[in-house]
Amino acid sequence: MTANFLEVKEITMDFGGVRAVSLVSFEIHPGEVIAMIGPNGAGKSTVLNMVSGIITPTQGEIYYKNQRLSRIKGHDYARLGITRTFQNLQVFDDMTVLENVMVGFHSNTKSGLISCGLKFGSSRKEEMDMHNRAYDLLKFVGIASLSYHQAGSLSYGKLRLMEIARALAANPKLLLLDEPAAGLNHSETAEMAEILSQIRAKGTAILLVEHDMDMVMNVANRIVVLDQGEKIAEGLPTEIQANPKVIAAYLGQEEGIQTISGGV
Ligand code: ADP
Ligand code: MG
Repeated sequence: MTANFLEVKEITMDFGGVRAVSLVSFEIHPGEVIAMIGPNGAGKSTVLNMVSGIITPTQGEIYYKNQRLSRIKGHDYARLGITRTFQNLQVFDDMTVLENVMVGFHSNTKSGLISCGLKFGSSRKEEMDMHNRAYDLLKFVGIASLSYHQAGSLSYGKLRLMEIARALAANPKLLLLDEPAAGLNHSETAEMAEILSQIRAKGTAILLVEHDMDMVMNVANRIVVLDQGEKIAEGLPTEIQANPKVIAAYLGQEEGIQTISGGV
């Protein structure tokens, strides 16, 4: 059972002539945080898009609890317990923060978020329950006081937290996060890391794509490293930090060298 939570088996993704991901395999166990790192263009978002069913691998298979994910329709992912956030924020500016979270009860695929819009629960009671749960989720991420503000008025950092709350609305067993700390300052990043640790403590597995090495080192149980579409390393955070292949992959990326070596 444990070994069969999420198995990614030799997935490849071709975009026309470009092989964005090549024969990548890894597993995630329940309650584990796996960080996926690698230079820009390494294929991280593409892997996340395949695991979340936005795109179907050209080759290879992804199994979730022994089910082939390629057979599952996008809108069924949340029901299965898989939700995600995107590298670019998905925000309904004119809706309140609470309403933005409530959208997560219905769908968390990109198209679902957009098409679902304001179609909320059918009964008043259901709506109240969702309202209360959304409020609790906002409390969990520390922004309950902003529940009735227009989402468009929030800072970028707060919107990132709102997105986490929305992704949690469907009660996921597996949470896929694409650079949740991108654009956050130091204290906001620390706050995000703390929230991810708390999510893990509740038993939710996380696949985390992230550039911030402090955050990765803090919250990841294991790290998978991609470079030019291929997995070049996998191991414990301390092993990865000292891995010559990994350090070499970041050469030429100024920001990368500094973050991977724990510098400024
Ligand atoms: P990362 O998230 O690691 O920065 P991506 O997964 O976004 O990398 O991209 C990996 C490679 O695939 C890049 O070369 C990118 O240009 C290419 N790519 C990603 N999505 C598409 C797409 N929809 N069409 C064509 N090429 C794509
Ligand atoms: Mg990306």
